[in-house]
Amino acid sequence: MQNTLFVEEYRQVLRSRSPGMRGLARHVALDALARLDRWPGRGEVLDRPRVQFLYVHHVFKDEEAKMDRLMAHLARQHTFIPYGEGVDRVLRNEIDKPYICISSDDGFKNNLALAAILERHGAKGCFFINPSIIGEDSSAVIEAHCREKLHFPPVEFLDWKDVERLQKAGHEIGSHTMAHTNVAAMTTAEFTEDCGRMRQVLMQRCGEAKHFAFPYGRFFHFNEAARKVVFDGGFISCATAERGCHINGLRPLEPRELVIRRDHVIADWKLAHIVHFLVQAARRASFQGNFHQWGR
Ligand SMILES: [Zn+2]
Repeated sequence: MQNTLFVEEYRQVLRSRSPGMRGLARHVALDALARLDRWPGRGEVLDRPRVQFLYVHHVFKDEEAKMDRLMAHLARQHTFIPYGEGVDRVLRNEIDKPYICISSDDGFKNNLALAAILERHGAKGCFFINPSIIGEDSSAVIEAHCREKLHFPPVEFLDWKDVERLQKAGHEIGSHTMAHTNVAAMTTAEFTEDCGRMRQVLMQRCGEAKHFAFPYGRFFHFNEAARKVVFDGGFISCATAERGCHINGLRPLEPRELVIRRDHVIADWKLAHIVHFLVQAARRASFQGNFHQWGR
């Protein structure tokens, strides 16, 4: 397979899209909001005890230095803990300081670079993969998967040896459906079958399958029946792409009650913008935010 097929730098991804006015307006608005975060006292909200789950998709070559800088910045006010420990602390109501759990979705090959950066900072990640694309060697299949499922130019994916290497280095492997399907577009029977197959593959390849993240991940991409399928299928946590973080409440939670919120991060973004999202999440955190909230 020719390597030239694959995108290797984030600027190639950006070039493949037109930024448009919406992107520019968003950037300017975020700049203004991020300036407010520098007001005395605002940054201190990050000292609030909480579990902040962050997720990325990629760390391309031209993002590595930025990801490294982001980790160094986050380490000033946070302790990095493995994903499973973060889930556990939220469930047990044992959040005694600011914690960060890093995860990555979709299984791009450059997740290996992310893992190396995490390791340099003493952190472990959770990698949510789609078993059907792992180790795929048909460029036509990869190209179609990226275009149709991820709205992305073609990228190289992890193979099973890479997955094994990640696991051996202490990272967790999570599930993201067999082939990155929008769960809201599946019947409950279809999703039950997908969930069963996925768990079987992960158990065979990795020896465990604990964590699940919904593809696309907004509240409208799944419903309560789908959440039930995930837990009935043997997974112990399910994550979304809804922004927010988790704080202690009045009581511990049952695993099935918890809907994990994760803030999306692109290493290429301005550091001040990423920090702004974290400040927002920390300010808005509530016990109620642990649950599935329809229509909000
Ligand atoms: Zn995804």
